[in-house]
Amino acid sequence: MAPNRLLTAALACLATMSASGSEVESLTVTVTYLANEGVMISDGASVVLIDPLFENDFGTYQSLSDAQQQAIVNGEGRYDGIDLVLISHEHGDHFDAPLLTELLLNDAGVTLGAASSVLDLVRADERFDERLEAQLLAIDPEPNAGVVENDFGDFSIRTSWQRHGNRRHYDLVNLVHQVDMAGQRIVHLGDADAKPENFDNLRDYAGSFELALAPVWFFGNDPGHAAIEVLSARHTVAFHVPDGITRERFEQLRDDRPWSIFVEHGEYRLVE
Ligand SMILES: [Zn+2]
Repeated sequence: MAPNRLLTAALACLATMSASGSEVESLTVTVTYLANEGVMISDGASVVLIDPLFENDFGTYQSLSDAQQQAIVNGEGRYDGIDLVLISHEHGDHFDAPLLTELLLNDAGVTLGAASSVLDLVRADERFDERLEAQLLAIDPEPNAGVVENDFGDFSIRTSWQRHGNRRHYDLVNLVHQVDMAGQRIVHLGDADAKPENFDNLRDYAGSFELALAPVWFFGNDPGHAAIEVLSARHTVAFHVPDGITRERFEQLRDDRPWSIFVEHGEYRLVE
């Protein structure tokens, strides 16, 4: 009996290894909604968060509870083993220096990738420690111009600067991050201005995106739709949804275009 039991245990172990290894999970990337434009992108091995920690909901946007923030900051549960945190821009509904500093202090394995101007805001945090410099990655593309690439081995990113929506924010750095993971390419638009000319520098990537994550103001107007069409992603999901736009209203807006919406924490899309 004993050898059979051992064999059974060994086979069970092998099965677990193959299920968590490259064969099964690397074919599927999961994009999980946190709040506002916060998302987690993971293939089961690598974990990338974009705009995950912020404090200001401007009275209308979704935010994380304190418990949800602390789970990220402490790397609990599904937030265990975060490789990279990317920031689109410095607005308070996307970015919070104290929470990000705490996350970096808690896990030396986390890299924070953002524009130099945003990293300076983290450096100015009272708890920032010079040892955290090694965890900072400055990403500084020119406005509406080139794409900056960074390779992390198991995944890579490409980052460009698309002008932020609303004229008074046109000078603000708004980074659009593309994440290449497990053979899929996902693009996060930050608070980009919803006009097709704002995406001229990404025309070379048109059609290469499996999923585009776009703020809700891209939907329901012609320039926004034209901008989405420049990217020609296979799937598009809207986020940054203010109170008052219900899922029902969005379904009315979406016409015959194949996009959906993130409105509930923990919602996810499998990208296969
Ligand atoms: Zn913004």
